[in-house]
Amino acid sequence: MIGGGASGTYAAVRLRDLGHSVAVVERAGRLGGHTETYHDPVSGGSTDIGVLIYHDIPLVRDFFGRFGVPLVRYTGQGGTTNHYVDFRTGLVVPGYTPPAPVALPAYIGLLQQYPYLDQGFDLPDPVPADLLLPFGEFAVRHGLESIVHMLNGYAQGLGDILRIPAIYVLKNVSLSVINSVLTGSLLITERRDNSELYEKATGWLGPDVLLGASVTRVRRGQRGIQVRVTTPHGPRVIHCRKLLVTAPPLLSTFGGFDLDATERAIFGRFRHHHYWTAVARLSGMPAGVSLVNVGADTPYNIAPLPGWYGLTVTGVPDLWGVKYGSTGPVGDQAVRAAIVADLRRLRRAGSYPVELEGLEVFKGHNPFELVVRPGDIAGGFYRRLYGLQGRNGTFYTGAAFHTHDSSLLWRFTEELLPRIAA
Ligand SMILES: Cc1cc2nc3c(=O)[nH]c(=O)nc-3n(C[C@H](O)[C@H](O)[C@H](O)COP(=O)(O)OP(=O)(O)OC[C@H]3O[C@@H](n4cnc5c(N)ncnc54)[C@H](O)[C@@H]3O)c2cc1C
Repeated sequence: MIGGGASGTYAAVRLRDLGHSVAVVERAGRLGGHTETYHDPVSGGSTDIGVLIYHDIPLVRDFFGRFGVPLVRYTGQGGTTNHYVDFRTGLVVPGYTPPAPVALPAYIGLLQQYPYLDQGFDLPDPVPADLLLPFGEFAVRHGLESIVHMLNGYAQGLGDILRIPAIYVLKNVSLSVINSVLTGSLLITERRDNSELYEKATGWLGPDVLLGASVTRVRRGQRGIQVRVTTPHGPRVIHCRKLLVTAPPLLSTFGGFDLDATERAIFGRFRHHHYWTAVARLSGMPAGVSLVNVGADTPYNIAPLPGWYGLTVTGVPDLWGVKYGSTGPVGDQAVRAAIVADLRRLRRAGSYPVELEGLEVFKGHNPFELVVRPGDIAGGFYRRLYGLQGRNGTFYTGAAFHTHDSSLLWRFTEELLPRIAA
């Protein structure tokens, strides 16, 4: 496994279950990828700053259950009140309330027209032209105006929701997501510590996990695959029959790989969006109040990017979660500085007597949401991408192959296992 986030960890555990020997090469110093938990030394509480919620499907319950991590129903942050603020001015937007989601049944009807979107990118040929429209046009055509702002809240990290092809919105705010929300069946870890799953998996996989590891050379031939890796404990050479790439499949991920022209041409089409999170320790912020960033004068009141999605109650005293996004590249330091400046503006504008005591965590989750242009999708990009499964002994899973949803990625990965194990 190259990459030990949600997909790589799941695949390693399940392939070992099936009797195969595995090795996980993870660049970071821990497994989990976008799953990260902050343990507050002041209150002793924990808050997940990345992946938060899961679908109630047997595979999710089994995966958490085998590692003894209890799940409970997600009921939101009890007692939270949303205030609607334009972070560009620091002012509460007078009179703004989110529109009643009267178009939700119409949106569900559209998702039901494209059931394959809930399974992956196995798209029909030709790809329905509707799915390739900029989502703003798609929304007007189908009368979805009343839920555009709501969908933007679910589609964090996807860039400018009005301009991206509708297919990416429909995949991220999927039938599974809508069903789980409407039935109140979403799950969260009881201890508010999703990282526990990955810590337990790290222990279970033992020396088969190489943390802080970088691939330096991959050679794939008829007689097997050789992966050279540098690790904090020195170089390692892994001999394997199959490779499973779960890291984002940008060309930059494949440094040292013997990519052929087909692989290079396909991965070279991807571009990506940008997403950051932080945990802010605040004083003066009213307890139980979350701020949603809205544009006072923008279409659908969607806040422009780069910018905040919101400042959210965490359930841990004095700690709020920060979500920030951008369509184009912005340096981490610039984002961090913007977050600090925008929090100060809330005070200067007289909206909240808030003081930033410190950013306890600041993290770029980049690259986030790999996408291609509508013309590529129409031209069969995803058919060619899926056609790479098994080529040169290499298989692929992860968000770029389906969607940013751990539960659905585990299901997608599970369905791929027989082919990998064959
Ligand atoms: C802030 C945030 C909140 C989210 N909330 C939710 C949620 O509530 N529920 C949900 O289901 N999903 C959520 N997601 C979506 C999340 O992206 C997916 O659920 C899932 O984590 C994606 O899994 P993955 O395996 O594709 O990628 P990741 O989990 O990111 O794993 C990829 C791994 O590859 C490693 N890597 C990258 N490059 C290399 C390399 N060259 N060599 C070796 N290793 C490499 C990375 O370090 C990482 O560990 C959230 C995402 C973010 C950023």
